Amino acid sequence: MAGIRRFEERIPTSIKMQHVRYQYISTKPLTNMYYNGYGSLKLSALGFGAMRLPVKNGNDAEIDEEEALRLVDEAYKAGINYFDTAWGYHAGNSEIVMGKALKRYPRESFFLSTKFPGYDVSNFGKVEEIFEKQLEKCQTEYFDFYFLHNVTELNIDRYLDDDRYHTFSYLMEQKRKGRIRHLGFSCHGSLETMRRFLEKYGDSMEFGMIQLNYLDYEFQDAREKIGILRSRSIPIWVMEPLRGGLLAKLPEDGMKELEGLRPGVKPVEWAFRFLQSIPDVTMILSGMSEMSQMMENIRVFDRREPLEENEVETLKRIAKGMVSGKIVPCTSCKYCLAHCPKALDIPSFMSHYNETSFTGGGFISAMYIMSLPEDKRPSACVGCGSCEKVCPQGIRISEKIEELDAMTAGTVKAMSGGRRGLRRRDSARTSGPFRKRSEPPLPGMLRDGQGAVRLQDGRGERCSRSCQPRGLPDHDHRYERLHWRRVPGHR
Ligand code: SF4
Ligand code: SF4
Repeated sequence: MAGIRRFEERIPTSIKMQHVRYQYISTKPLTNMYYNGYGSLKLSALGFGAMRLPVKNGNDAEIDEEEALRLVDEAYKAGINYFDTAWGYHAGNSEIVMGKALKRYPRESFFLSTKFPGYDVSNFGKVEEIFEKQLEKCQTEYFDFYFLHNVTELNIDRYLDDDRYHTFSYLMEQKRKGRIRHLGFSCHGSLETMRRFLEKYGDSMEFGMIQLNYLDYEFQDAREKIGILRSRSIPIWVMEPLRGGLLAKLPEDGMKELEGLRPGVKPVEWAFRFLQSIPDVTMILSGMSEMSQMMENIRVFDRREPLEENEVETLKRIAKGMVSGKIVPCTSCKYCLAHCPKALDIPSFMSHYNETSFTGGGFISAMYIMSLPEDKRPSACVGCGSCEKVCPQGIRISEKIEELDAMTAGTVKAMSGGRRGLRRRDSARTSGPFRKRSEPPLPGMLRDGQGAVRLQDGRGERCSRSCQPRGLPDHDHRYERLHWRRVPGHR
């Protein structure tokens, strides 16, 4: 690697967030890259994310190693000095491939990060075993950056219970030993979850990764999360800068508007320039899966070029247009909470409805739902409609909750481990009067279009809700809950 200037040379400041223009010098420069100061380090403003490496046969676990190594080589040559992997990426194979790829470079010439897989709660209590294995897989003696991965509602109690699981204390011990250089966290959870986490560990967190892009800035509380991190002077690492590729292609009218502001600028550049406009952002991680896409990303980082205020406003407007029609206008006023006989967290359900509805799936909402006791999940909603009477936004809450339940059911099932998860869902649905396992599956019920209430045929139990005293015939609540709006007189 002769000719490549070392990236970790000292800069005369310890200010964590100072952006430093740093010229990449190589005998064969492919591009310039600008660097952000992080203490005494210089981190390439764009990091190589190894969560979407090229694969063979469409199999996520089967990384196309040759192509992945080629990507790493070109990224390194272009000045990227930060590489990010994780225990779970590519079914555990990302760490192995990244270990092989980076082994060919001097260890001090790049920064490597990986993560404790707290998204799977069965990993709590195994931090030592996992950490040792990670070092082995990555063929390294230390990690420059190490994350407590994916702090969410599902695992926050375990992360906080250090007396029992020793996750945090073990990792701090590794830091003292120099096997972790910097410790931080990533968070997909709510603001409240992030606050709880930082109340306990905030003083020890040296960086925090959030999902940030101009769409999530308002849509998924990213702006508030920036505020929380800023108040603690924690530098921001960004995940999903392009929202899983959604921001790489914008609606035609949006593009026309942007063209008027900066002719010839592509959607990807707009997305990255937006992030470059936020001074706390120190590292932007982008999953690299294809050479031309990667080079296009890299080119945007030849300079830091924050956007003008009117440009940011335009992007926000476009983002709003992209989500409108797919989301509900819940303002999280919480008026509905006191009216729910099941004490369900309706504002959170609405937020997750928006997330799932817009993305068409994903794991974030499924993880949230799994974190709830069964009687607090969307499936526990009985469709009574009390919440809707007080919702100032006029949201048809029970319908949306039902849709959220249907949209997340598959992922919840898969993440719960097949039948085990399905049984849990079944028992949630069939608790109380709904105990008939022989009934058709719920998705079928939604599709069959029969709509109206299915009259009881002697196998079910009597309706105990307000409709029954009003003289409606007995009926099966499962069907009724799904279609209650179409049952004349039912409330
Ligand atoms: S419709 Fe569902 S969410 Fe609304 S008050 Fe009734 S049980 Fe609660
Ligand atoms: S009352 Fe409506 S707007 Fe307010 S939190 Fe509940 S669902 Fe959201």
